[in-house]
Amino acid sequence: MHVIVLGAGIAGSLIAQKLARTSSYQITLIDQANGPATQTSDHQLALVHPQVNKKSTKLQRFTQVANRLVWQNFQSSIRYSGVYQPMLKEDWLNRNIQSELILTLGFDSSEIEPLDSKSALEKLNIDRPGLWFNTAGIYDLKKLSRQAIETMTQHEMIWGEKITRIQKNNDSWELYNDKNEKVCTGDALVLACNYQTKELLATMEVDLPLRPVRGQLSRFIIPKESEVGKHLPRSALRGDGYCSPAKEWDPAHWLWEVGSSYDEDIDDLKPTNESASANQKKGLALLGLEERPELSIREESNFVGIRSASKDRLPLIGPVSGQRGLFLATAYGSRGLIWATLGAELIQAYLATFLAGADFLAAGFLTGAFAGEDLTTLEAELSSAVSPSRFFAGALGARASNSKPTFPSGFKAR
Ligand SMILES: Cc1cc2nc3c(=O)[nH]c(=O)nc-3n(C[C@H](O)[C@H](O)[C@H](O)COP(=O)(O)OP(=O)(O)OC[C@H]3O[C@@H](n4cnc5c(N)ncnc54)[C@H](O)[C@@H]3O)c2cc1C
Repeated sequence: MHVIVLGAGIAGSLIAQKLARTSSYQITLIDQANGPATQTSDHQLALVHPQVNKKSTKLQRFTQVANRLVWQNFQSSIRYSGVYQPMLKEDWLNRNIQSELILTLGFDSSEIEPLDSKSALEKLNIDRPGLWFNTAGIYDLKKLSRQAIETMTQHEMIWGEKITRIQKNNDSWELYNDKNEKVCTGDALVLACNYQTKELLATMEVDLPLRPVRGQLSRFIIPKESEVGKHLPRSALRGDGYCSPAKEWDPAHWLWEVGSSYDEDIDDLKPTNESASANQKKGLALLGLEERPELSIREESNFVGIRSASKDRLPLIGPVSGQRGLFLATAYGSRGLIWATLGAELIQAYLATFLAGADFLAAGFLTGAFAGEDLTTLEAELSSAVSPSRFFAGALGARASNSKPTFPSGFKAR
């Protein structure tokens, strides 16, 4: 069986890695660039943390499991370990109450620790109470994408081929370039090409409900002796936006990275002053300096990337109803590494099911890591929440005369 993965950003690279490790399929990874992670995944500041809400929500549980998987599996591409989420003083109860709430939500006390202002100041140079995420961090997506595919052989990868058209021919998927040459044929095709997945599906007259979302990260150079310089954190922070810890730039300056803008329906890669000053504001607010607009910091450079997002801001991961053998792994939005990690697990499970000719997505794809949790329910909820069929039920379902039952409504435990 031959599986083609199109797109070697973090989404496609982790899928290729998972398939190479756990299956005996022939795999081909294709990208228009000459190596992995040259587009949106070409950045080194991917924050990963579990979502924490007052009540346990599905999103919280998905991000919690994904955070554990990322922490267990991708230590070699972590840039900064631990993330602090400062809280407003009025939201802070006390340390014991916070600890209880966190345990009630299903977290382990080694994962999240409440800190009062005094402890946060000592540990992190931040004079605000909040939550310390011990197993969260900032990851380098480029390094991780490279590492994921490093054991693949040259004949399993095709670089420098932009695919402009895909087509089903009997039971095979065919990929064509702009010269109308056939680049590859496979039994199954996974589209992991971010926003460009929309353009490719349009060649099959499928309208994917994706929108581009531009994002800009800014790097600031800050004199150590300045007011801002003295307030910079010793760990990554998150809140409305996020930032890196202060890192030495030269003996007199810190380098400090802050993100990001979220500009819907814009796909322009040029950095803008507006986004840089919005990042400056976000950064100062994270430090509790929002009331000090006179403080200004010099920006050194920016990273701009285009994310893709669906209408409900959840990703599209799974089979396309009515198009046997076609799978999507896209719309990862601002949670690239969280969804890429879960996406690799899910796509591998879907492919195993599809290639075995089975009707139902097999349970058990998140197992191994977490004893004692009801993962079967979580898996069913996850596959259902991110299934492309939530958008396609009408239009594409109608064409699905000879397809297997649509995932994941037919989900059954093995
Ligand atoms: C400013 C900013 C900040 C962010 N912060 C975070 C964060 O803190 N944490 C986090 O987890 N995520 C973050 N993200 C999101 C994360 O970067 C993305 O979700 C992730 O990189 C998307 O990965 P991808 O593989 O889907 O897409 P990409 O990295 O864009 O990869 C798609 C690949 O497909 C290839 N391709 C596309 N079309 C074709 C074609 N027709 N033929 C051949 N190849 C093709 C491209 O060359 C590319 O390599 C941020 C994004 C931005 C922009």
